[in-house]
Amino acid sequence: MRGFNETKFNAPAFMLVLLILLGIPFLIGLLVQYNYIQDLERVSDERLTLYEMTLESELQKYEYLPYLISENGMVSEFLAKGGDALPINRFLYRVNNIAGSSVVYIIGTDGIVSAASNWDKPNNFIDLDLSFRPYFKDAMRGKEGQFFGVGITVGEPGFYISHPIRDKGDIIGVAVAKIALSPLERIWREGGETLFVSDSNGVIVLTSRPSWKYKTLTPLDTVMLKKIHDQEQYPGFQLQHLPSHTRTRLGFVEEFTIGKERFLKRTRGIPGTDWGISYLTPQGPLWERTLGVSLTTFVLLGLAILTRLFLRERRLQRLSRRQAIEADHIRDINHQLAQEVEERKRTEHELRAAQEELVQAGKLAALGEMATAIAHELNQPIAAAKTYIASCQLMLKRNKLDELAPTLDKVSDLGDRMAKVTGSLKSFARRSSDKNLEFDLRQAIKEAVSLMKHQFHVENCDLKLSMPGQPVLIIGDRMRLEQVLINLFRNALDALHETDAPQINVKLSLENGQALVRVWDNGPGVPEEIGNKIFEPFVTTKKEGIGVGLGLSISYKIVKDMGGHFRVANRAPSGAEFSVQIPLSTKQQEG
Ligand code: ADP
Repeated sequence: MRGFNETKFNAPAFMLVLLILLGIPFLIGLLVQYNYIQDLERVSDERLTLYEMTLESELQKYEYLPYLISENGMVSEFLAKGGDALPINRFLYRVNNIAGSSVVYIIGTDGIVSAASNWDKPNNFIDLDLSFRPYFKDAMRGKEGQFFGVGITVGEPGFYISHPIRDKGDIIGVAVAKIALSPLERIWREGGETLFVSDSNGVIVLTSRPSWKYKTLTPLDTVMLKKIHDQEQYPGFQLQHLPSHTRTRLGFVEEFTIGKERFLKRTRGIPGTDWGISYLTPQGPLWERTLGVSLTTFVLLGLAILTRLFLRERRLQRLSRRQAIEADHIRDINHQLAQEVEERKRTEHELRAAQEELVQAGKLAALGEMATAIAHELNQPIAAAKTYIASCQLMLKRNKLDELAPTLDKVSDLGDRMAKVTGSLKSFARRSSDKNLEFDLRQAIKEAVSLMKHQFHVENCDLKLSMPGQPVLIIGDRMRLEQVLINLFRNALDALHETDAPQINVKLSLENGQALVRVWDNGPGVPEEIGNKIFEPFVTTKKEGIGVGLGLSISYKIVKDMGGHFRVANRAPSGAEFSVQIPLSTKQQEG
C-alpha cells in the first residue's frame, strides 16, 4: 500500500504549491494595502482640509487689522507731524484687545517702531529697529506683507501682517499686526494627530510635535541660512536638519520616515502664503492590516492545500485497500480454480480406471455368454453321442454288427456338428483379424443368426430373415461384421424381455450400389434419454453386470472402418431399427 510519505517528491508540484502559498497572500496583501492607502489618503485629505481651514481662518481673521490702523486719521497725522505718542499707544492697545491679536504697532519710514499696543510692557516694541523685516520692506513698497518669524524681544513665534500707511499718496509708515499661533499648535498637539506647516525653505514653523519645530526638512545651504539670519526670522534657532526623508511608494503615495517612525504624508499649499501643510498618518495599522490579511490568506490556503492532500491520501488509501481486497479475491478464485483443476484431474483418473474396469467387465460378460452358448451347443450333441455310443456297445455285446454302422454314422454326424460349432466359435474369437477380403454378406448374416439361434429359441423370439437370392459381395473383415450383427441381435433380445410375442426382423437389400442390412424389433425402442449418444462408449441402460455400453460403439467403429454408415431410429408404433450400410465390392458393382 502506497502511503503519502512514500509518494515520490514532485518538484514542479512543490514549486506550484509554494508559489500559491506565498504568491496569493502577497498579492492579496498588496491589494489590501492599496485599498487601505486610498482610504487613508481620503481621510488624510479630509483632515488636511479641516486643519488648513482652521489655520486660514485664524490668519484671515486678522488680515484687516493693519489696514484698519493705516486708515485711522490720528495715526497718519501722528506719523506725518509727530507729537504725543500716548493717545496712539492707547488706541493701538484697545484695537489689539478687541481683535485678540498678539501685538499691533506702527513703524516709521526709518523702520523704527513709534507706537505699539504693548508700549507699557517691559519688553515693549517702542524704538525697535525692524527695517530688516521683509514685511516692513514689502509694505514700504506699497504691498501688504506677510511673514512668519520669531520675535526679537521675547523670542515668541508669530505671523506678521503689514499694511502701508499713506498721506496723500505717500507712504509715511507701516501698520503691523502680530498673531501668535502657539494656541493653535497646542490644540493640534492635544488632538493627538501628527502634522506640520513648513515655509518655502522647508523650515517647520508650526507642528504638533514640539521637537520638530524650527527644523528643516532638507538641509539648507549657507546662502539661504545667511538670508534667514539677516532677516532675523528665527533668531536663536540653529535650523538643523530634521533627520527624516520622504520617498514615493507604489507610484502614488509619499512615505515620510523619521527614526523608526513611518508615516503616509499628504501635503497641500496654504492659499495666500508660501506655506505648505502636511498631515502624517502612522503606517503601523497599515502594516498590521496587510500582514493580518496576508497571514490569514496564507493559513487558509495552507489549510485548503493540507485538506486536499489529506483527502487525496485518504482516496489513495481507500483505492489501495479496495485493490488489496480485489487481489485477495482473485487469489481466492485462483486457489479455487487450482483445486477444481486438481479435482477434475483426479475424477478423470478415476473415470479412466473405472472405464478400464468396465472394459474388463464387458469382456468377462461376453466370455460368460459365450461359455453358456458353447456349453449349450455342445451339450446336446455330446449327450446324443453318448446315447449312440451306449447303443453301439449294446449292439457289440449282442453281436448285431450290421446295425452298428448306421449308428456310428450318426455319431460321426454329431462330431461334424460339434466341429462346426467350435469352428464358428474359433472364427468369432479371431476378431482382431485385419484381413480385408471379399465375402458374401448373406453368409455372414446366416452365420450370426446361426450363432444366436439357441438364444432366440430360449427367449422364445421369432426371427424373420429376408435376403436376396444372389450373393451380396462386400469387402472387409467378415468376423468383425458378424460380431456387429450378433451384438444387434443380443441388444434386441435384451430389449424384448418384457414384450409379448417378441419378434426380430433382419432384412438385407441393395440400395444405390450399397448393401443395406436392417435389424428391427417390436420392443420399447431406444430410450429417449440416450438419443444421439447411443454410439458413444459406456452409454447403457442395462443393469450393472449385464451391459457395459461398449457394444454399439465398437460396432460403429467396425462399420466405419469398412467405409459404411451405422444409423438408429425408433419405429412406430414401437421398436428400434438399426441399419448398417456398406459399399458393395467393385466386382459386384461392375456385375
Ligand atoms: P450395452 O448393450 O452394454 O448396454 P450397447 O452399446 O450395445 O451396450 O447398447 C447401448 C444401449 O442402447 C443399451 O443399453 C440400450 O439402452 C440401447 N439399445 C441398444 N439396442 C436397443 C434396442 N434394440 N432396443 C432398445 N434399446 C436398445
